[in-house]
Amino acid sequence: MKCDPNLYRAAPQSLAVKPRLIRHLFLPPLIIALMIGLGYIGFWLSEHYGIRHLGENGQRQLELHARAVESEISKYTYLPSLLELESSVSQLLADPTPEHRQTVNDYLEGLNRRSRSRAIYVMDTTGRVMATSNWRDFDSYLGEDLSFRAYFQNAVRGQPGRFYGIGSTNGEPGYYLAHGLEEHGKIIGVAVVKVRLEAMEERWQRARLEAFVSDENGIIILSSDPSRRLKSVLPLSDETKEKLARSLQYYWFPLNELQPLARETLSEGVEKLTFPANSELKSDDENISYLSQSRPLSDTPWNFTLLTPLQDLRREAINQGILVAVAFALVAFLLIAWNERRKVIATRLAAREALQEANNQLERRITERTVDLRASNERLKGQIRERRHAEETLRRAQDELVQAGKLAAIGQMSTSIAHELNQPLAALRTLSGNTVRFLERGQLDVASTNLKTINELIDRMGRITASLRSFARRGDDKGQACLGKAADAALQLLGSRVENTPLRLHRDFEDVQLQIDQTRLEQILVNLIGNALDAMQAQPLPQLWLEGERVDDKYRLRVRDNGHGIDAETRKHLFEPFFTTKPGEQGLGLGLTLSASLAAATGGQLGVEHPASGGTAFVLSLPLVSPTPAEPI
Ligand code: ADP
Repeated sequence: MKCDPNLYRAAPQSLAVKPRLIRHLFLPPLIIALMIGLGYIGFWLSEHYGIRHLGENGQRQLELHARAVESEISKYTYLPSLLELESSVSQLLADPTPEHRQTVNDYLEGLNRRSRSRAIYVMDTTGRVMATSNWRDFDSYLGEDLSFRAYFQNAVRGQPGRFYGIGSTNGEPGYYLAHGLEEHGKIIGVAVVKVRLEAMEERWQRARLEAFVSDENGIIILSSDPSRRLKSVLPLSDETKEKLARSLQYYWFPLNELQPLARETLSEGVEKLTFPANSELKSDDENISYLSQSRPLSDTPWNFTLLTPLQDLRREAINQGILVAVAFALVAFLLIAWNERRKVIATRLAAREALQEANNQLERRITERTVDLRASNERLKGQIRERRHAEETLRRAQDELVQAGKLAAIGQMSTSIAHELNQPLAALRTLSGNTVRFLERGQLDVASTNLKTINELIDRMGRITASLRSFARRGDDKGQACLGKAADAALQLLGSRVENTPLRLHRDFEDVQLQIDQTRLEQILVNLIGNALDAMQAQPLPQLWLEGERVDDKYRLRVRDNGHGIDAETRKHLFEPFFTTKPGEQGLGLGLTLSASLAAATGGQLGVEHPASGGTAFVLSLPLVSPTPAEPI
């Protein structure tokens, strides 16, 4: 039994396909976009918090190292002012004799050695060096005019002179601290201490620290990386450059700008700087980013800047971003897998439910159908009963009809019968009257001959009535006949006639079961074969063909002979009762009429054919009992 497909409640395909198509089209790009987005957020957060953390650490480092720089510088702050207390210095300035100069030179040499400064020297108010600690050196400052130096100009005005510059004599960089020497409230000269600060650079290098100190002009004067030294961190105008060149503060150095590719201010004094990869500072291929933290150094117009490289942090942030993206992809994959599994389970459950529902419905339907079938079975049984009853009635009616037909046929023949019987009766009357007279006259021979004729006439009348009685007999129209057996019986009945002729018999028919009484079929065959034998009496090589074939639900038997055939006039009356061409007592003329009636009574028929080759063929067509073919005889 087929299940109703609607019971499965499956969504129509057109509707089911679309969301799946949309999912397959948009889900992968969406997941990739989310992966990229979340990866970027992961990267950004990691970098942001990393920078914050680095910034906190850097702030501590900045403070530490800035203080170290401040303390290094402040060590020498009071050194030039000490010379105010030295009487030999004021004497020299008041009276610059060679003796005084030498005294001060020696004094300054000793002081310089003890203080580990680079040089200490004294200038008069015109800026000429009167005495110096390096008086012995060939590049001694002695006698030089350094009035152009800014520290002198400040100090001679009574302001502290702080100056980082490159020595005009020997090109050596140094930090210059100048102090105006006062006597009685009047400046009589300037004392200068030159300090080398390279020790700090070495200290930074040892600590693997990237740091620099930029002066008031934005020029890097101290740097852990030597290549940054004397580079400008601020844009320099032409005017400033000219002024700096004139002051020879940085000697003849070109003062290139150290401008970053990108500068992002994160907070006060904290910046993110990116330097180009091809910078002369670094030979790496990548651009280099730094976290730059600056703070001013007290007592100076300088700034201390700490640079913390961000490559490691950036790499770490990229890793974190990738990790987040991969984790998301994994979670997305697990979610999709879980969702697919959930759907499969849901589909299975739905299918199972649908199947259960279908089963239930099927069972309900089967129950309903069984009830219906039982009812229709009962109805059918009733109908069969009615049909049987009707068939019985019909058969009875048919029998009645057949019987009526036979009687009608006899009725139709009654005039002929009466005529056929009246003729011998009249002859009998005449013959019997004559016979009585011949007996009275003693003519016994004639009387005997008449009596013989009377006998023959009575026989003939008996045969007529016997044939009609047999035909009219009720109930013989039913039953079955075996064709082979009937043919054998007929030939046997005609035995002596068959034997007396050189007949060639051709049998070519099946031994089928036919719907006709056996005796009736034998009677028909006796009539047909008998007629054939009569027609072939003059034939020297008589031949009889019994040929059969199935046509639909009937069997057609041809009884053909090579006799004299039937002329045109005879053909018109063949099936008329009492029509015969046979001479004397040989023919009654009832054979074909009764045979045709018997065949018709069983639903068959009898016909005649006149083959072109000669002779006659009677065709007997009778209904088959079983339409399946039987073995040929
Ligand atoms: P009957 O044999 O008593 O004459 P039928 O009704 O059997 O009566 O035949 C009627 C007539 O049909 C026959 O007299 C004969 O002339 C003709 N007839 C029947 N069968 C044949 C046949 N095989 N060949 C030639 N004529 C036939």
